[in-house]
Amino acid sequence: MTSLTRRHVLGGTAAIALSGHKAFAQTQEQPGFRALKVGDIEVIVLSDGTRRSKLTASPSRSASLEQFQDALAAESLPRDEIATSFQPVLVKNGSRTILIDTGNGPRTLEAGTGRTAANLVAAGVDPKQIDTVIISHFHGDHIGGLVLADGASAFPNAAIKVPLNEWDYWLDDVNMNKAADGSNLQNAHANVRRVFNAIVGKNLAKYEWGKEIAPGITAIGTPGHTPGHTSFVIASGDSKLLVQADVTSGIGLVFVRNPNWFAGGDMDGPMAVATRRKLYDMLAAERMPTTAYHLPFPAVGHIERSGSGYRFTPA
Ligand SMILES: [Zn+2]
Repeated sequence: MTSLTRRHVLGGTAAIALSGHKAFAQTQEQPGFRALKVGDIEVIVLSDGTRRSKLTASPSRSASLEQFQDALAAESLPRDEIATSFQPVLVKNGSRTILIDTGNGPRTLEAGTGRTAANLVAAGVDPKQIDTVIISHFHGDHIGGLVLADGASAFPNAAIKVPLNEWDYWLDDVNMNKAADGSNLQNAHANVRRVFNAIVGKNLAKYEWGKEIAPGITAIGTPGHTPGHTSFVIASGDSKLLVQADVTSGIGLVFVRNPNWFAGGDMDGPMAVATRRKLYDMLAAERMPTTAYHLPFPAVGHIERSGSGYRFTPA
């Protein structure tokens, strides 16, 4: 069961102010970061880049290729291309510097991703300054940036905080052996071992849902995409921002509109759908602003009800 309850997201007006840090474009095709305030807390949405690929099969187990193409067209997106963006979130609260998720990592630079480290520097943050890295779940696009190309820790002074339920699933040899079938899931298991073996002993802590795991940041259980998938409420005074992670993954806009479709990589489709509806109903009811890992950069705005699904309105 999800530990997502109304208590966790209730309360207060939720105004946010976007400031104009367009950044640092240089050779990049899109800005590298966007800063906003949540009460007294500075939040910086970082771009890890965009991965583009030809659309040759439906990315959803619930929709045919043609249905998916129609859904892309409805968002004014090309019918024959998948463009997935990735957005870790930096939180500066007083003396604390906290990173939520880490991007695809330096091994993916040639694919147009793995830019989080460079964009941190562009935003004026030295990776050595980061005191805490919070991981939402163990897919490669979220944990890949934990290690440098040479296998060293990318955040040498940070405590690494991971969801207890996620750790218990992925680090279980029984689950790994069950997935040893040549699938993407097998690759994901191997990648988890690679990353966490590299940073073993480096101040790793497991966190539980429903708790404040860093100043102003509360972990909210949103399982389904993975067994321990976690979202976060950032709160300061009357202001709040919900950091979704992969409540919608892949082409996020399509799954916001079609919440009953299993998104790319949703390990438990029905649970992911139930979590999505529950969270989005709350966001719509509370008018709480949100940022999502896989919505188009800078991916900050509001979720509203629309027809049988939802609509994302950028701030
Ligand atoms: Zn993801």
